[in-house]
Formats: sequence, C-alpha cells, structure tokens
Amino acid sequence: MTVENLSRRQLLRGKLLTSLQSKSEQTEDFAPIRPPWSVTDEEFIAQCTRCGECLNVCETHILVKGDGDFPELSFEHGECTFCGKCVDICEQPIFRPKEETPWSYKISISTGCLTEHRIECRSCQDSCPQNAIRFRLQLGGVAKPSVALESCNGCGACVASCPTKAISIRRGIVNDNHE
Ligand code: SF4
Ligand code: SF4
Ligand code: SF4
Repeated sequence: MTVENLSRRQLLRGKLLTSLQSKSEQTEDFAPIRPPWSVTDEEFIAQCTRCGECLNVCETHILVKGDGDFPELSFEHGECTFCGKCVDICEQPIFRPKEETPWSYKISISTGCLTEHRIECRSCQDSCPQNAIRFRLQLGGVAKPSVALESCNGCGACVASCPTKAISIRRGIVNDNHE
C-alpha cells in the first residue's frame, strides 16, 4: 500500500508517524528552550535556583522541569502567550527587560509534513495566531506550507497541532524545507 492510498485518518492516529520521519529527525537532540526573555543559557543555569515558581504561574503549562530540574519549555500541549508571568515571578537576575524581543526562535518543518507525501493538511496554518504559515498550490500536487519567518514569533502553537510532529522550534534558523 502506498502512502498516497492511506487515509488521512490512519495517519492522524499516528500509525505512519515513524515511517514518515527519518531516524535523525526523530532523535535529533536540541538544546533546551528556556522561558522567553531569558539571558544566555550559561547565565541562566548559573543563577536559576530551580525554585519552580515560573512553572506554577505559566498559564499554558508549557514550562516543565528539564535536566537538572531547570525550567524549560515543552510545546507538546500548548504555546507561549508571552504573558510574562514567568519573568515577573522570578527573583533572580536571569531575564532581560520585557520591552525587548522575547527570543529569536522560529519554526522548522521537516519532510515528515503530510504534504510532502501528497496528503492534504493545513493544521499548522489553522493554529497560527500570527498567520505566519501560508499554503502554496503546487502544480500536480497538494499545497505545501510556506513560513513567513518575519511573522513567526516562535510561540509554538503550531507544534502540537501537527499530526506527524513535523514542526520543531529552533533558534534563529530558517525553514529548511519550505523556504
Ligand atoms: S511568558 Fe507566560 S506562557 Fe510563556 S512561558 Fe512564561 S508564563 Fe508561560
Ligand atoms: S500541520 Fe503543517 S507541517 Fe504538519 S503535516 Fe500538516 S501541513 Fe505539514
Ligand atoms: S511558532 Fe510561528 S508559525 Fe508556529 S504558530 Fe507560532 S507564530 Fe505561527
């Protein structure tokens, strides 16, 4: 059975997830993402007391205890609203002023994207509050996502919406597969 013949429903159940992603995409190890407005990771680790207060106030519950119990973000179930509560509650000098840009994260879409396999999907577009993901019709194929990186603020809302986990957040990089 070819990928084209499989129903989207089966894919949404994750049956083909592993086959649609390369081994390196599944296992690639990324540096932890600290809360927005954080100083450098080195400074953060040196001065964060791991009190956990930021986890308690995060309104979307995306702050979790990472390695060494230091706070890091997980976009599996939500996005950053840039509410700034984590910054406000912290008593350590590990955040920059909130007037500054919170971070330089952007998304990257891998070849696990359903449209790479000629299957219609626009979940990421529907979830993006910045309208940073557009779809372009391809001659003889399905429309593919194109990310307006200048509009993407790295909030992560699209990450959980992708049925094949094809979207990852990376610091200041460009979308390698969809320009
Ligand atoms: S800015 Fe708000 S939503 Fe984002 S990590 Fe901090 S507390 Fe959570
Ligand atoms: S959500 Fe977006 S990136 Fe994920 S499979 Fe659908 S179109 Fe591709
Ligand atoms: S991370 Fe970027 S593309 Fe994804 S939902 Fe947020 S603004 Fe949109």
